[in-house]
Amino acid sequence: FDVPPLSSLLSVVHLNMHYKLKKSNKEELNHSVFSLSQWEEIGEVDENYAPIHTYQVCRVMEQNQNNWLHTNWILTEGAQRVFIELKFTLRDCNSLPGGVGTCKETFNMYYYETNDRALKESRYIKIDTIAADESFTELDLGDRVMKLNTEVRDLGPLTRKGFYLAFQDLGACIALVSVRVFYKRCPFLVKSLAEFPGTIPGSEASQLVEVVGRCVNNSLPLYEPPRMHCSTEGEWLVPIGKCVCQPGFEEINGSCQVCKVGFYRSLLESLACSKCPPHSVARQTGATACSCEDGFYKIESDPPNMACTRPPSGPRNAISNVNETSVFLEWSIPMETGGRKDVRYNILCRRVLPDGRGLEECGPNVRFLPRRVGLSNTSVMVADLQSHTNYSFLLEAVNGVSELAKDHTKQYVTLNVTTNQAGTSVVRKGRTGKSSIALSWAEPDRPNGIILEYEIKYFEKEQDSSYTIIKSKDTEMEVEGLKPSSVYIFQVKSAKNRLISSTHFFGSPYLTYVSGETYTIYIPTITTMHYDQAITLALVLLAVVAGFLLSGRRCGYSKAKQDPEEEKMHFHNGHIKFPGVRTYIDPLTYEDPNQAVHEFAQEIDVSFISIERIIGAGEFGEVCSGPLRLPGKREIQVAIKTLKAGYTEQQRRDFLWEASIMGQFNHPNIIRLEGVVTKSKPVMIITEYMENGSLDTFLKKNDGQFTVIQLVGMLRGIASGMRYLSDMGYVHRDLAARNILVNSNLVCKVSDFGLSRVLEDDPEAAYTTRGGKIPIRWTAPEAIAYRKFTSASDVWSYGIVMWEVMSYGERPYWEMSNQDVIKAVEESYRLPGPMDCPEALYHLMMDCWQRERSNRPKFDEIVCLLDKLIRNPSSLKKLVNSSHSPFVTLHLCSSCGVENIVS
Ligand code: AMP
Repeated sequence: FDVPPLSSLLSVVHLNMHYKLKKSNKEELNHSVFSLSQWEEIGEVDENYAPIHTYQVCRVMEQNQNNWLHTNWILTEGAQRVFIELKFTLRDCNSLPGGVGTCKETFNMYYYETNDRALKESRYIKIDTIAADESFTELDLGDRVMKLNTEVRDLGPLTRKGFYLAFQDLGACIALVSVRVFYKRCPFLVKSLAEFPGTIPGSEASQLVEVVGRCVNNSLPLYEPPRMHCSTEGEWLVPIGKCVCQPGFEEINGSCQVCKVGFYRSLLESLACSKCPPHSVARQTGATACSCEDGFYKIESDPPNMACTRPPSGPRNAISNVNETSVFLEWSIPMETGGRKDVRYNILCRRVLPDGRGLEECGPNVRFLPRRVGLSNTSVMVADLQSHTNYSFLLEAVNGVSELAKDHTKQYVTLNVTTNQAGTSVVRKGRTGKSSIALSWAEPDRPNGIILEYEIKYFEKEQDSSYTIIKSKDTEMEVEGLKPSSVYIFQVKSAKNRLISSTHFFGSPYLTYVSGETYTIYIPTITTMHYDQAITLALVLLAVVAGFLLSGRRCGYSKAKQDPEEEKMHFHNGHIKFPGVRTYIDPLTYEDPNQAVHEFAQEIDVSFISIERIIGAGEFGEVCSGPLRLPGKREIQVAIKTLKAGYTEQQRRDFLWEASIMGQFNHPNIIRLEGVVTKSKPVMIITEYMENGSLDTFLKKNDGQFTVIQLVGMLRGIASGMRYLSDMGYVHRDLAARNILVNSNLVCKVSDFGLSRVLEDDPEAAYTTRGGKIPIRWTAPEAIAYRKFTSASDVWSYGIVMWEVMSYGERPYWEMSNQDVIKAVEESYRLPGPMDCPEALYHLMMDCWQRERSNRPKFDEIVCLLDKLIRNPSSLKKLVNSSHSPFVTLHLCSSCGVENIVS
């Protein structure tokens, strides 16, 4: 017999002649009718002359036939559903001579389940009546053609150890040639390094039996144990989970093979054993990590594929610059960084004792700005030294492995300096109450004029947008009304009769007050201002502060005379921002663009990234998304910008340009750079994933779906991101809704820093008469006319973005040509207020579109105003009445924006 695949043959059944069988017919149970079976066992040979047995019965001439034949006891082997395949021949009654009336063309099949061999005939249960598909005739007999029928029936659910089968003939002419009993099972299987045992399916037709696999030798389950499901058809379905080779092994041809000497595998996620990184070795097979060569080290947080490293050499080219009792120290990075990026610097300050009596360590009163140890920059300000004193500073460079390298000889650089006359005074804390503190300070050594009074400015730490200034004629005062258990920063400056020294102004000491504790903290801005600049600045500052205090206004902007070169000084939310304190570094200033990329962007190993979907098309290639799994970090979704194959060196540089810019920013409303892949191909830029894609498409898709507050919230986010960029000294030049991305929480983030200088990638950018491409509809007139791109021109674009947002992604100036747009704007026409747009927002847009750029609001003022509107939603109730027809409603701007929109 052929055994079908995936099946288990239970039995090729031995049939027994059954002479005294009680009928299982219920009516006759009580009568206990016995019948002599007429089945005959015939020994024959098949076509290969192998002996076969058939059982035949052919009592078609006699009445009341009831001939039974039963099998021996068949063990189920645990199967719950078994299959019975019958092969038989059956005589066609019509072909019998004389048309016998009692002749049957069917027989019945029964079964009886038991846990032992005891046979109780009355319990037989009928499975089915079996008829032949083809019966044979006299003619066939003559031709010796056997019309063999095959019928299969299934039986289940079976619950006992075994069963009997029985065949009942009621007067047919049958030859039973074979009875094959089998069940189906899912065979032993090895899949994804997991073994699944041969499994018997469940009894119900659609039932799946879940089986947990066993990981093969030297493998472990990844995330969850592997599982498969056995179907009633004996097939394995729905694989879940998998095994992976344990560290030190790699998968080869379905088994886990040990890593060779010189190779290691540390992570379950990586597939193959890797060669040991530089300066490390694996002397044995099966290494899960490589050990460092002598003199080289690794710290726990170093990724396994990182080379072993060593401590750096000493700092170079150290110089000092003494300013009264402060010293500014500066040096260059060591020649040899030891192969690490985490080089830090420590300073040891020692005072030279008079008469060369030796050196003593500087006490705790000397301040190091930003700190004394673990400096990441190559400069430090040391303040509050004693005047006219010699000091010796030791500079030391360390890195992550310096602690481990005990034998390494440290290389110091020594700087000897002598301080001058003292200039600044320290604020001291006196008596403190629950909500008050007494402060005192000394008059400066060299007041450089008559001090009329002092200004004491204080604010809660991290809430520096809200501060208080009080004045004092004395060098002490008590500040009251403080919130208990809060951290305050106090700043004292001397406001003098016109004359003011930059030292006093900028060097104002700060004091932090934490529920009774005192810290002296540092002044954040180190500036090299000229004396007369400082005077102007101080006066302007005083004027602004005075105006501020007098008007009591905390928010808003004045369009009264401002310096047209408005970027010279910003005074916002209590911060002073100076020109030249630009924190954004143009990657162009790097001779080698690759250096800029690696300065600002982390290199990511491509094996930590999986690309799952394509989400867009960028200028340089596809934009995809997928998970990023950095070792030791939570998995996050990222967007993956790829650089398509066949690029030129220039294209690669332009592509990575964006990463060099983005990597310098860190703000919740600026798209965050996770890193770059440059060491393998394709080159990729990895950023946080923004589920809702670009803002213009998102708004069009959700036309009319948001509340005004939600829209203002989005605008607030964009303005906050732009405030950060303008504070960093970065001008975007292509601010538009298409360049804003939206995440699942509706947070908007500014993106597209790519070619903000040339705008080659923006389909909206058009060539101007002066050459160069500009997105006309979004760009301020002075930027179109003479390329004057500033934060103020970004503000103009922001106004257009506001209009885009409030009109759910409408195209600014609709289908007007670029030339018409330029002309209309030149002639003082402006976009009308979008439908249902709150008047306050439209006023703000119109202000952003002031021809005179110094009259436009600054981003910090915009943020402040939007915050105010959000806090007071009733201010958004009044709507502008407008239709959307371009030509009738472009607004004439000659009188707009003259009065301040915040009263
Ligand atoms: P870009 O080359 O930056 O203009 O990107 C092309 C398109 O890819 C955008 O319009 C977005 O639809 C999509 N995209 C780019 N960056 C991201 C991201 N971080 N998250 C989601 N989608 C993005």
